Amino acid sequence: MDSKKNAKKIIKRAKPEKSKEEPLVLQTLRGMKDILPSDQPYWEQVRRISERLSRDYGFLRLDTPIVEFSNLFTRSIGEGTDIVEKEMYTFITRGGDKVALRPELTAGNCRSFIQNGMNVLSKPVKIFSTGPVYRYDRPQEGRYREHFQVNFDAFGEQDPILDAQMIQIAHRIIQTLGIKSVQMQVNSIGCQVCRKDYKELLVNYLESKKSKLCQDCKRRMDTNPLRVLDCKEDKCSQVAALAPQSVDHLCEECRTHFKTLLEYLDELDLPYIINPHLVRGLDYYTKTVFEIWSSAEEGKKLSLGGGGRYDKLIKMMGGEDTPAIGFAFGVERVIAEMKRVQAKPYKIPRPKVFLAQLGNLAKKKSLRLFSELEKNGILTAESFGRGSLKSQLRIANKLGVEFTLILGQKESLDGTVIVKNMTTGAQETVSMDKLVDLIKKKLKADNVVVYHN
Ligand code: AMP
Repeated sequence: MDSKKNAKKIIKRAKPEKSKEEPLVLQTLRGMKDILPSDQPYWEQVRRISERLSRDYGFLRLDTPIVEFSNLFTRSIGEGTDIVEKEMYTFITRGGDKVALRPELTAGNCRSFIQNGMNVLSKPVKIFSTGPVYRYDRPQEGRYREHFQVNFDAFGEQDPILDAQMIQIAHRIIQTLGIKSVQMQVNSIGCQVCRKDYKELLVNYLESKKSKLCQDCKRRMDTNPLRVLDCKEDKCSQVAALAPQSVDHLCEECRTHFKTLLEYLDELDLPYIINPHLVRGLDYYTKTVFEIWSSAEEGKKLSLGGGGRYDKLIKMMGGEDTPAIGFAFGVERVIAEMKRVQAKPYKIPRPKVFLAQLGNLAKKKSLRLFSELEKNGILTAESFGRGSLKSQLRIANKLGVEFTLILGQKESLDGTVIVKNMTTGAQETVSMDKLVDLIKKKLKADNVVVYHN
């Protein structure tokens, strides 16, 4: 009896269960994409210009995790916002924590500011950050589920001169990237005090027009009435056009703040307009809000970047009362605009020297020689896997290098290298220890940038 049972078990074990593994889907998730090497010159240009300008304007870099506790975002961005209501990537970890992929960078920066006691630093504390953010939106042109932002925040200063400087930086980055024609839109949505009265006035007006609003806006009247003002639906825009405007209902302090900001902007000669319907999607904004728009006539208009003041956010999150202002731009949209206006991407330095090797001993020595050239900043190409000199020279020609260094059996034994000028075809044999200096001299004489920077 027992042996029969065992036999059955053995048979069962011998027959492996069919694998339930799902087939591999070799595709990025919807709304996400690879940034391919061919597109990298644009990304490199955006990185370089924004990093350089962040330093020029006194910003320090901060990197925060992509994942945070989800209530960091729900509390700061606001329950009634599109981001929190519909677009958060929220999940429970194995440890039971409710976390979310960051939908923007400011909330994490504020958390870090408080957690790391940055309030003791001299003010304003200027923070630069960049990285991917995630919004579970309906993917369409210029709207992705993963996109990259470049973000500037400044903590601890309420003077509108900082608002003007932020707008100036935003404008300067976009211009330096070659996007010459943009429009800056500014507005003030007041502080907690005057916004309360204004909101009441707005809701009363919207109540009287409720039947003309889209479904979303009917709901927004309760959760986030200011958002009705920048709804893209035609019928809502018509209602918004006649709605009371926040700039007409600012308290004395907010009015003076906004007026002074405009004076600074006038002084800077920045091309701005006041857009009374600009409210921005997030709850934490107070006083100044602004956006940068491309001047494209055709296609769907999308903002390149935007930001505003969030004077009460740090306190609301449990930190010291710290006024702050920030803005972010979307890298994908800025790159799309660069391409549209044919702005120049970064020119990635190309090697001017090719190292060819022939024979086993030379092959062994070439790794060290390559590294020597690299250490000295001489950008060199190679094709170590190839054996024949002919095929290596073909590659060198294709790359358009100025010089090919040829290391054969004889040269390896003698401690020399052949330097071939690819334009004239002239060859000379030089001693290995003089090579680096000689190449540097030759490239300099040809006015070639030798170093990668
Ligand atoms: P926001 O945090 O919504 O103010 O967005 C700042 C900037 O990020 C916008 O002006 C856009 O350039 C960009 N952006 C926002 N949402 C998306 C998205 N879903 N896909 C691509 N870029 C976006």
